Amino acid sequence: MTTEPFDISSWPPSLTPIQLEALTLYATTYALSHGLLYLLPGPQPAIPSAAIHAPFSLFPSPFPRKLFETGKRIQRTYNVLYARIAMDEEFLDRVMGTKTGVGKVDDFIGQLWTGWKQLRDEGLAQHLHLGLFRSDYLLHALSNQPLSIKQVEFNTISVSFACLSQRISELHRYLLSSTQYYNCSPQLKPENLPPNRTISGLAEGLAVGHKAYNVQGSRILFVVQPGERNVFDQRWLEYELLEQHSILIIRQTFEELAHSAIVDPHTYILRVSCSTDIHPSGSIEISTVYYRAGYMPNEYPTPAHYATRFLLERSKAIKCPTIALQLAGGKKVQEVLAQPGVLERFLRDEKRYGKDGIFSEHEVNELRSTFMAMWGLDVGEDLLTADYDSISSGKEGFGLLKARNDAHALVLKPQREGGGNNVYKEAIPAFLNSLPPQERQAWIAMELIIPPEGTGNYLIRAGTIQAESQAAVKADVVSELGIFGYALFGGESREVKEKEVGWLVRTKGKDSDEGGVATGFSVLDSLLLV
Ligand code: ADP
Ligand code: MG
Ligand code: MG
Repeated sequence: MTTEPFDISSWPPSLTPIQLEALTLYATTYALSHGLLYLLPGPQPAIPSAAIHAPFSLFPSPFPRKLFETGKRIQRTYNVLYARIAMDEEFLDRVMGTKTGVGKVDDFIGQLWTGWKQLRDEGLAQHLHLGLFRSDYLLHALSNQPLSIKQVEFNTISVSFACLSQRISELHRYLLSSTQYYNCSPQLKPENLPPNRTISGLAEGLAVGHKAYNVQGSRILFVVQPGERNVFDQRWLEYELLEQHSILIIRQTFEELAHSAIVDPHTYILRVSCSTDIHPSGSIEISTVYYRAGYMPNEYPTPAHYATRFLLERSKAIKCPTIALQLAGGKKVQEVLAQPGVLERFLRDEKRYGKDGIFSEHEVNELRSTFMAMWGLDVGEDLLTADYDSISSGKEGFGLLKARNDAHALVLKPQREGGGNNVYKEAIPAFLNSLPPQERQAWIAMELIIPPEGTGNYLIRAGTIQAESQAAVKADVVSELGIFGYALFGGESREVKEKEVGWLVRTKGKDSDEGGVATGFSVLDSLLLV
């Protein structure tokens, strides 16, 4: 979907230094008061006593209303698409497995797939999967073409910033009501700041999983990383579950779970002991395992860490996500979806999904219109099949040559999450020279999205010590929109219970290739619909 170009070069409005300082004070004080927070950098004490506000932008960023609505609309289709991928074992084995897929050359993916395959062979105790998703987009502005949204990636594990995203939307709305933003722009009015209720949306997703498990007194397990700084984004979800759904949670790391988690060999019930709780049985039944961890290889430093992951997976608790759903979120899957006929396999096949499970050609094409060109580095001339001859001979196949020739307009991505793993533009040729031929299969090439130029914002990052001031820095920026969704699916029924549940904007300096708030590249932002 596309829309007419809009003038963003006037953004952000100019402010006098006095106005800027006053707004910054309003904003940072609101952030600190309303839990738009991060823990301090460095080693985390067991009980933290201080926090800083998360990095954020002073103004919401302009975004075409129509394209925002497109993103929200197609999220429903994406929810179903990724649910069906996760249920298609044949497809995931082929694309991500260790015989023909990425798992052959990528140890992390191979470990996850092998563990999952073994559990499948034993027989799974729980056939439901729960997904909390985030589909990320950039605006694409080719000259002579209308502006469009293009997908950066689709995340199926540990999607973050839902809660802080709601808080920054509320902050921008507060600045509008309390200061009128000094009447500095006619576009800054309440109807252009869309509501953002992602906290209740994501909590609802988790509650849907918990209710499907349906055992009184059971709790949701949050699997978290040691030393996590982004805890408030997780805590808001925890408080919402308690206040709106009367659901209690337990937070533990893989290391803690190695000692505290037990799966009954007959019933497959997952129980976790929790030293802070007084409970008659000494341990608590888990309804849903919610991962805010487990997506990076360095989180599995020993075989025992994988064993803990597989122990949880073996249980009859509902996993958010299952290993299958985590694998479905791989960048390789995103690339394969762009190949001819693959979307049709998942969205247009009446034999598999029934008459009611079919999407219209228009819906499929609208989704496909968000794809950039992608291919595997291991492919031959037809760009669809692996080029085994050239790989085994170490020669350069077509996919690799194309990546070398078009390097200036590409990003290369491995099967990793969490930021900082991609190779961009000029760095590509040297990287390709150093990449062992057998590892090519683990990488995809993707055309770079070209965001519109000329838009700016004031970015505010907290100092980490008392003496540091909190000056707002004006910068040319690029904004990445994320749309959240949840899906519960699997078991007997073909039905996917799903919903679009909110959005996120992360804004980065225009010259930074990477995004990511946790990695320090981006700040949290919200939308000004134009
Ligand atoms: P991760 O799973 O590590 O977040 P992403 O695929 O989101 O990996 O890539 C990280 C960042 O790189 C994105 O947030 C975006 O800023 C940038 N990026 C990724 N793909 C593209 C692309 N095709 N065009 C432009 N920028 C991209
Ligand atoms: Mg990303
Ligand atoms: Mg990702």
